[in-house]
Amino acid sequence: MSRQWITVLGATGSIGASTLDVIARHTDRYAVFALSGHSRMDVLYQQCISHQPVFAVVCDPAQAAGLQDRLTLAGLSTRVLHGPEALAEVSSDQRVDVVMAAIVGAAGLAPTLAAVRAGKRVLLANKEALVMSGALFMQAVRDSGARLLPIDSEHNAIFQCMPVDYASGLGKVGVRRILLTASGGPFREMALEELAQVTPAQACAHPNWSMGQKISVDSASMMNKGLELIEACWLFDARPEQVEVVVHPQSVVHSLVDYVDGSVLAQLGNPDMRTPIAHALAWPERIDSGVSALDLLLTARLDFQAPDPQRFPCLELARRAFDAGGTACAILNAANEIAVQAFLDQRIGFTDIPVIIEHALDRLAPQPVTELAQVLLADRQARECAEQWLGNRR
Ligand code: NAD
Ligand code: MG
Repeated sequence: MSRQWITVLGATGSIGASTLDVIARHTDRYAVFALSGHSRMDVLYQQCISHQPVFAVVCDPAQAAGLQDRLTLAGLSTRVLHGPEALAEVSSDQRVDVVMAAIVGAAGLAPTLAAVRAGKRVLLANKEALVMSGALFMQAVRDSGARLLPIDSEHNAIFQCMPVDYASGLGKVGVRRILLTASGGPFREMALEELAQVTPAQACAHPNWSMGQKISVDSASMMNKGLELIEACWLFDARPEQVEVVVHPQSVVHSLVDYVDGSVLAQLGNPDMRTPIAHALAWPERIDSGVSALDLLLTARLDFQAPDPQRFPCLELARRAFDAGGTACAILNAANEIAVQAFLDQRIGFTDIPVIIEHALDRLAPQPVTELAQVLLADRQARECAEQWLGNRR
């Protein structure tokens, strides 16, 4: 079997590192075509030394020159490129078989879409890309014949529990509901009046998963589950009322599919992203991921609860945006990105996050979407709207 060429977008992040860990276990199957990173040049340098990609892609020319010098000095023939166009090039290059889309946020949309349009096997971690551009994104998948495989642990679990022909319609294949599990994050049991005072460090200390900062804050606010609800609707062509969010603090059941005959299929495993990554890389085969076997006796208990809407208003905001359609989810996502960054920068409190998102959803009327430019415009306007809110508060 010839080796598959892989581009890892967002290689220096949490998902990127886990992806390279799995790839390193299977150098007979996979070779790295390109790695991208936006900061942490030392990490990217080390990754290049280990994986010897054809290309490395960074943000700006100064970074590119610096990394190129170091790699050349180390005897590598890796070429360092920079900028958004280079990201799209290494995602759509003819030689590439698989693209791991693991850039965080809206910045990942263009290269992920480039990979989709080029008909690649696309491993989708960058949920924000799909949330922003849902209908266009899924149409591009159908048009190009790209194979879209979900990396989000919940969606990967759902994919594993779905029948192979689920794309013909959930009703047709006997699926009644999708049960989307959520850990509830670090603030699941905190007194509500304390939430306004929590620090970024507290929000990023997730009880079960080690992840990038943005998704950690999203998990604490449960906007992550809101984004995932939207993601599930697009990936599995489900209506929002067919997706039920269930809080499951142990993060061992990664999600479930409920069939009309009363069967409920679940995927379980230790909370380690290398499992969905290995699954999507090798699908329909199975390969070792480095994740230890689940010890059910050690797990002992599996708890399930309904999410508290008062504690987690972001969940309802996501439902509202999906129902509104058009550019509403792009607005939701962009306002959330600004709010999360402002929280991480300690400019606002944790409970201001949903306030800013609601403000943007109230202010900006959703527009129909027929092309990407409309999505990008809504993204820009929502960022401006959220920034204005921040400015007015000062
Ligand atoms: P991270 O912050 O650890 O890494 C983000 C990566 O994106 C880094 O390589 C960074 O350099 C790059 N990046 C950031 N801004 C960029 C920009 N403007 N242009 C180009 N590159 C940029 O994030 P992560 O936790 O690895 O998450 C990545 C994506 O995967 C997110 O969309 C997240 O929601 C999703 N995801 C992550 C996990 C997880 O366990 N970490 C689980 C499910 C889904
Ligand atoms: Mg998830």
